[in-house]
Amino acid sequence: MEWKGARREGNIEDRRGLGGVGLAGGGIGALVLAAVGYFVFGIDPQTTLQATQQIQGQGQQEAGVHGAVKDENGQFVDAIETSNTAVWGPIFAKQGARYTPPEAVVLYDNATPTGCGTGQSAMGPFYCPADRKVYLDLTFWNELDTKFGAKGEFARAYVISHEIGHHVQTLLGTSEQARRLGARGAQSGSVRLELQADCYAGVWASHAGETSNGQIVINPADIEDGLGAASAVGDDTIQSKAQGQVVPDSFTHGTSAQRMRWFSRGFEQGDPAACDTFGASRL
Ligand SMILES: [Zn+2]
Repeated sequence: MEWKGARREGNIEDRRGLGGVGLAGGGIGALVLAAVGYFVFGIDPQTTLQATQQIQGQGQQEAGVHGAVKDENGQFVDAIETSNTAVWGPIFAKQGARYTPPEAVVLYDNATPTGCGTGQSAMGPFYCPADRKVYLDLTFWNELDTKFGAKGEFARAYVISHEIGHHVQTLLGTSEQARRLGARGAQSGSVRLELQADCYAGVWASHAGETSNGQIVINPADIEDGLGAASAVGDDTIQSKAQGQVVPDSFTHGTSAQRMRWFSRGFEQGDPAACDTFGASRL
């Protein structure tokens, strides 16, 4: 994938090196884990939907610098976020709606306050609907590479675009609708939301290469990397690795096969209408 010539709008809030928030104090870990939904993969799967609702608005804000960043890793995130804005703007406009980007992609180390409670890097990247920001600790890329075996820049772009997919859902009101369908289980609202975010990442990839969208070049090998990443973060794959068995009743994100299928669907059709995981008879 080529992205260095791509446009960057500077929608990054850089909190790296600020020291984060103190996490001392007994029991806060559990509270923290219950706080944030919309992981790429569930560290604490129970939480995804209802917890976001409960904790909304409780986090105090930590001021980071909002704007362009100088390091290459940060600029990569900026380029992908900007490309998503370029892709989603016209899609919304076609429906007579207006796309507004996330408030920021927040880069942080270790832990940081969010509108959804304290964010911790152990959670993986996530989107907080209460403050409309994506939270990302860049050390996650190492984990994606080593722990999940998902290599390549495009795997990272897929993760960022998946989180922005949750922002799209917030703008469209889908997240609210999903709450009624439950937070875990193979047919749950959570799984439908996550698979839809994968499909939206595919929609982004489908249009990212159009020149009007900022000179990101995506090659067939990148799509393979994206599918590899989608497979690596499937509930069944994670569960069988972690606990040696697969429990569909506790699914929050969908199986590896489902995540690959919905990403591909978005990529092949390039149309969010193809991402109706709520109306689909088969996920
Ligand atoms: Zn997600």
